[in-house]
Amino acid sequence: MTQFDVVIVGGGLVGSSLACALRQLPLRVALIESTPARAPNLPGLDERVIALSLGSRRIFGGLGVWPTIAPVAEPIVRVHVSERGHCGFTRLDRHEADAEALGYVTPARALELALQDALEQAPQFQALRPAQLLDHRVFADRVECTLQHGDTRQQLSTRLLVAADGGDSGVRERLGLAVTEHEYNQDAVITTVQAAHPRVGHAFERFTDSGPLAMLPMPGGRYSVVWTCQPSETTALLALSDAEFIARLQTRFGWRLGQLREPSPRQAYPLRLKLVRETVHQRVVLIGNAAHTLHPVAGQGFNLGLRDVAALADALADAAQHGSDPGAPNTLASYAQWRGRDQLTTAYLTDTLARLFVVPWRPVRIARNLGLLGVDFIPTARQRLARRFMGLDGALPRLARGLPLDVHHA
Ligand SMILES: Cc1cc2nc3c(=O)[nH]c(=O)nc-3n(C[C@H](O)[C@H](O)[C@H](O)COP(=O)(O)OP(=O)(O)OC[C@H]3O[C@@H](n4cnc5c(N)ncnc54)[C@H](O)[C@@H]3O)c2cc1C
Repeated sequence: MTQFDVVIVGGGLVGSSLACALRQLPLRVALIESTPARAPNLPGLDERVIALSLGSRRIFGGLGVWPTIAPVAEPIVRVHVSERGHCGFTRLDRHEADAEALGYVTPARALELALQDALEQAPQFQALRPAQLLDHRVFADRVECTLQHGDTRQQLSTRLLVAADGGDSGVRERLGLAVTEHEYNQDAVITTVQAAHPRVGHAFERFTDSGPLAMLPMPGGRYSVVWTCQPSETTALLALSDAEFIARLQTRFGWRLGQLREPSPRQAYPLRLKLVRETVHQRVVLIGNAAHTLHPVAGQGFNLGLRDVAALADALADAAQHGSDPGAPNTLASYAQWRGRDQLTTAYLTDTLARLFVVPWRPVRIARNLGLLGVDFIPTARQRLARRFMGLDGALPRLARGLPLDVHHA
């Protein structure tokens, strides 16, 4: 049976980022992913763009992949948050946050390719793809995994199993872990459009009666659209002609960016919250969507997952430096303690935003408009919100400080 120190199941953005971080350490690492490398239609990548926080940009700097991503990343210098038809609004500005940008809008595909390029040059790293993890069994000193790799059934053993296998995590299911779940009864329809009068670096989050609408700036005056709607609207939105869709979008968003045109193909995702209370178990840790699947309203899902990656890589670097077992209980406990608060707070804030802004009841509407105005008038509240969403709150692991992971920077 082949032996590894760390096996990661799931080569989405979070699992691949962890593999990329661990290539800096003296560990035997394997990644199991059910789709082939560089496949054109990987689930979760498609037309999606990811609003990376400044913290995530630093982590990618620490991973050494930011130079590949930077040419296609559009800096966000200002975020306008408003409610359609009402007075409350707030702005988050990079100057107040004293930062070069509040975040960066990046095609998910570009992130995936940058990580692939880096991993292809990592000698100790082994990619098993397309391969499906079928089962795992936990023992005191190892986890044994059974996978289907091409035509062959294969067994391997690892000291630590990292589940980065997404919102429907099979590892989580086999462990029988309790999950807090909420169906928002909303879908996100995504596309990109060209704006006649783009505002360079300005992002918009507009709360409407059926859910939030986000417009994120991309290079060349294009905008990524994340339109949250009720499932009853989804089929119609997908079926509209381009001209009808643009007319609907323009009514919902307004004319701040002038005439919108040239929509790319539309795709829809059902939205839900899934939150695991305990992300660490004997020799197993859950990260990314496997641990917390969030509503995309605040663009926090991947950013939160990348912070899991940075903290876990930090804990494993410490273990490697002391020659300790990467799956030892104290290593996993210190990781869990570090991440718990950020995971819960980010999930709670995102969930509150997603639920609060669809309640049409007048007192709630007034309260949330006052809330938005309050945040706008109180600079410290605005700055605190900005720092949290920028991923700069709390103790930062090495990668989030832009430092490489090699043990000399411990
Ligand atoms: C519309 C929308 C917009 C979003 N916008 C943002 C944003 O702006 N900013 C942000 O931070 N986040 C955003 N997110 C969230 C973000 O996309 C996700 O949080 C992130 O992609 C999750 O990555 P992951 O690697 O954890 O999971 P996934 O992408 O789900 O990857 C899991 C991987 O595991 C593999 N897998 C599963 N089971 C097995 C198995 N048994 N064997 C082998 N492989 C397996 C799958 O093939 C898959 O590749 C958005 C989400 C949506 C829906």
